[in-house]
Amino acid sequence: KPVAIITIGMAGAGKSTFVQRMNSYLHSQNEYRPPYVLNLDPAVTHVPYEANIDIRDTINYQEVMKQYNLGPNGGILTALNLFTTKFDQVLDLVEKRAGEVDHVILDTPGQIEIFTWSASGSIITDAIASSLPAVVAYVIDTPRTVAPATFMSNMLYACSILYKTKLPFILVFNKTDVQPHDFALEWMTDFEAFQAALATHGGTLDSEGEPTYMNSLMNSMSLVLDEFYKNLKAVGVSSVTGDGMKEFFEAVEASREEYTKDYLPELERAR
Ligand code: GDP
Repeated sequence: KPVAIITIGMAGAGKSTFVQRMNSYLHSQNEYRPPYVLNLDPAVTHVPYEANIDIRDTINYQEVMKQYNLGPNGGILTALNLFTTKFDQVLDLVEKRAGEVDHVILDTPGQIEIFTWSASGSIITDAIASSLPAVVAYVIDTPRTVAPATFMSNMLYACSILYKTKLPFILVFNKTDVQPHDFALEWMTDFEAFQAALATHGGTLDSEGEPTYMNSLMNSMSLVLDEFYKNLKAVGVSSVTGDGMKEFFEAVEASREEYTKDYLPELERAR
């Protein structure tokens, strides 16, 4: 069975470029067959890869905006809702091709919350994950996450998605050609290093010499995150140069096993 890679990330993190890179990487490797690619972003004007199924082929989001008198976000959400009502047909198509591919790749709407916090997003995620082994690839804009406070906000967001989907999870530190991700790995494995970074970036003490509210909050939250880090994999990639793609697909294979070991038994219990 192929493994489904659900690509999620903040706008501008490089989701589409990463999907394009996965696509070209898989085409170039003898080890893997070319993937089956789904674009679920109705508002994207240009996708840099060729999608096998594209939400834009069935739903014109500009028309949806006009017809229902909606703004851009309402338009995107409604387009996704309309598409979701036909998702059983999409799954049929995916299942028909399941014998010919090793990976099914999903690109999600540019605004992350439209997918992660909508009924449609959950329905699509659950439908995919109950038909195929699935993994979430959470794409991070590494150069924009070097400040400890931003880093932690981003990790908390990732954490909330992990606990919502309960799927195997890969943190993809993208754009390593601009900013290597070693600082992130260090912060994730060494609590004291993260605290030291907080101290140098934020000023840990107020005028009375007491830790500031923000810093004591961050210290407590980073203990929570320590637990979160134990439950996921992290890789650094450059979607522009292709660096790190081998490691990424190794993490995908490991996630496939994790799905079978942890997620599938839960799913069967729930049925
Ligand atoms: P999306 O909104 O998450 O789909 O992001 P895009 O794929 O459109 O990428 C946003 C911007 O980041 C574009 O200008 C890309 O060229 C750039 N970008 C994406 N991946 C990389 C990367 O690995 N390295 C560099 N330097 N730029 C990247």
